[in-house]
Amino acid sequence: MKVEIAKHAGYCYGVERALDLTSQAGKSPDKLIYTLGPIIHNPQVVNRLETNGIHHIDSIDEIDKGTVIIRTHGVEPQVVRKAKAKGLKVVDATCPFVKKAQQCASTLLKEGYDLIIVGERNHPEVVGLLAYAGLNAIVVERPEDLAKLPKEMNKVGVVVQTTQSQENLDAIISGLLATYKQIKVFNTICSATTKRQSAARQLAKKADVMLIVGGKNSANTTRLTQICLEMNPKSYHIETASEIKKSWFNKDDLVGVTAGASTADWILQEVVDSVCSIK
Ligand code: SF4
Repeated sequence: MKVEIAKHAGYCYGVERALDLTSQAGKSPDKLIYTLGPIIHNPQVVNRLETNGIHHIDSIDEIDKGTVIIRTHGVEPQVVRKAKAKGLKVVDATCPFVKKAQQCASTLLKEGYDLIIVGERNHPEVVGLLAYAGLNAIVVERPEDLAKLPKEMNKVGVVVQTTQSQENLDAIISGLLATYKQIKVFNTICSATTKRQSAARQLAKKADVMLIVGGKNSANTTRLTQICLEMNPKSYHIETASEIKKSWFNKDDLVGVTAGASTADWILQEVVDSVCSIK
């Protein structure tokens, strides 16, 4: 069997930055370090941080002192205000691409647009974005949701969850154009996402089997899996090498491997080594 890794796979700029900031915080004299939610959607990496004394909390209400790290997805501004008001030290690891999407939402709101956020309603990034998009903002996950939108919106402004697929965005925009006259779109899908999706698509087309490595709770890894499945039905989303099944492969297969933006190199390498060891 031959193994090929996608040209763009694994940790993105935003995740590396967040992990660097977390590691720096871990070296400070303050021994009470928390991340607000798991720092990235990767249970193996989060477990390693826990072992090093960096725990995650679900709400600012759970702590009264120490340092709190805001993860790449960002949060509503009132969360940061509340943390500071409690005297907590705040390390903001919100990815700059997410910050850009938040700024775009604020701009559209100030310009009088009714906002639509293309993304997953319950994803933390979208929950944070909603706080910048005004009370009337509506989340659209897929083209079928467009039928539920109010018809009387005059100016429609669109921002996008950074890890959405371009295809989903294109389908939603063309649906909006059929109903609304004035639409302004900020395509806030980040370049890391676009590159990973395009590289995964190319590799899935030619591979016999495709492995997509990343947290089952990771939105961008799940999207990579959907894209690969469209190209290749033998695509499998795994978190670690332990999930690999010998029955997936034939002797001379080309096995493509890609990984979500929150997948560590060592996890990806274990998968490659495991496939290479199959006889
Ligand atoms: S996937 Fe994009 S937006 Fe998300 S953390 Fe990585 S670089 Fe930032």
